[in-house]
Amino acid sequence: MSSDRTTRQERAAEAIKITEDCINCGACEPECPNEAIKEGDEIYVIGPNACSEYVGLYDHLACQAVCPVECCLTDPDRVETEEVLINRTLRLHPDDAGLRRKAAANDYPSHFRK
Ligand code: SF4
Repeated sequence: MSSDRTTRQERAAEAIKITEDCINCGACEPECPNEAIKEGDEIYVIGPNACSEYVGLYDHLACQAVCPVECCLTDPDRVETEEVLINRTLRLHPDDAGLRRKAAANDYPSHFRK
């Protein structure tokens, strides 16, 4: 294993949360392939156990990219590694053979690798 790969896998990112600046536009909800984003009582919310930061699926934070008021932000109180996140994506998409192949080859899209 290269030192670059070790560094990438051990590096931690901060999970995504929606702040109180949310205007309930709903743009982020369909972006999440894990269906982690839901309309809450007052603002949209992200289920932390369903959020895998798009690791294995996209190379960027898709909810953050579409949010018109930039309120899908990383949460410093919830830091997770790429390894934890790819395993969560695999758990949430058990029938995705292509994802499984890419994960086994350690060759998948991830915002950690940009
Ligand atoms: Fe709220 Fe931003 Fe999602 Fe719109 S895109 S619902 S403002 S978090």
